[in-house]
Amino acid sequence: MASSVGKVELRPLGNTGLKLSCVGFGASPLGNVFGPVSEDDAIASVRQAFRLGINFFDTSPYYGGTLSEKVLGKSLKALGVPRNEYIVSTKCGRYAEGFDFSADRVTRSIDESLARLQLDYVDILQCHDIEFGSLDQIVNETIPALQKLKEAGKIRFIGITGLPLGIFTYVLDRVPPGTVDVILSYCHYSINDSTLDDLIPYLKSKGVGVISASPLAMGLLTESGPPEWHPASSELRSACKAAAAYGKEKGKNISKLALQYSLSNKDISSVLVGMNSIRQVEENVSAAIELANNGKDEETLSEVEAILKPVKNQTWPSGIQQS
Ligand code: NAD
Repeated sequence: MASSVGKVELRPLGNTGLKLSCVGFGASPLGNVFGPVSEDDAIASVRQAFRLGINFFDTSPYYGGTLSEKVLGKSLKALGVPRNEYIVSTKCGRYAEGFDFSADRVTRSIDESLARLQLDYVDILQCHDIEFGSLDQIVNETIPALQKLKEAGKIRFIGITGLPLGIFTYVLDRVPPGTVDVILSYCHYSINDSTLDDLIPYLKSKGVGVISASPLAMGLLTESGPPEWHPASSELRSACKAAAAYGKEKGKNISKLALQYSLSNKDISSVLVGMNSIRQVEENVSAAIELANNGKDEETLSEVEAILKPVKNQTWPSGIQQS
């Protein structure tokens, strides 16, 4: 199906020189985070994604307690293509057993991740969900440790991730320019919450690349709905369910609409979508290509935005501080 529609667009990532596919492959589903995914389905999904021009794959030791890294590593190896044809990001500091952003732990963490991924280096190593740690430790200890890993050639670029947007300015205001290459924000650039938009001029002024994850709001903007563990309020869940039902009635898929909404902001280098099947890969690539050719479905979008208006920009608490 999507093999006839072309390949997804590449976009530059801040000052890194990397060019990421605008649709990125979120590999948390490969850790069975949204339900069981067989290894065969994982390998086939990664293969189809790569064939359709997706060159960016994101994982973490936290997803499925290291399972996502192992399965992604196996899937990338099965591609049988030169290492420089794909871009891999993983994370450090968040593990099934808890958080640890100490220099010692993140330094060991990369070696463990590289072994699981069967790689010699990762393109981006990100401190994972830093709002659960001390932001001053991130600035004074974790990032300097990651700089050493950069010098050692184990990682090419450094990133930070998390939910509250204030964590990014806190850290970026305190590290030397050029130290943090990229931020990964999630659940803040989708139809129901677009607050990341306010931060983009600041990030651009710092030359920091922007990755936005969870365009489907971790399952809220899907016809099948979010997983049990989803932290949204019942009000937000109900509004998203109503939006999905409205789209379905009209013959419009809410996930496609949501992904196209996120992709339409070109200051975002890559939109990371969690994918677990060839079908989802093809649907998401088709959505990107259709957007590039025909633009957004403005009519349905404004109707869905009206349904979501009462919960617009509603989020949930995350971490031990809300800066
Ligand atoms: P998402 O919004 O991408 O939603 C994923 C869910 O939507 C999964 O259940 C997936 O199977 C389903 N889905 C995907 N395509 C679909 C389609 N076409 N139709 C219907 N359903 C579809 O949420 P996510 O997976 O949490 O986020 C994407 C990725 O971003 C993650 O896998 C991870 O790599 C990254 N991420 C990072 C952080 C962080 O660093 N703190 C947080 C969230 C996400």
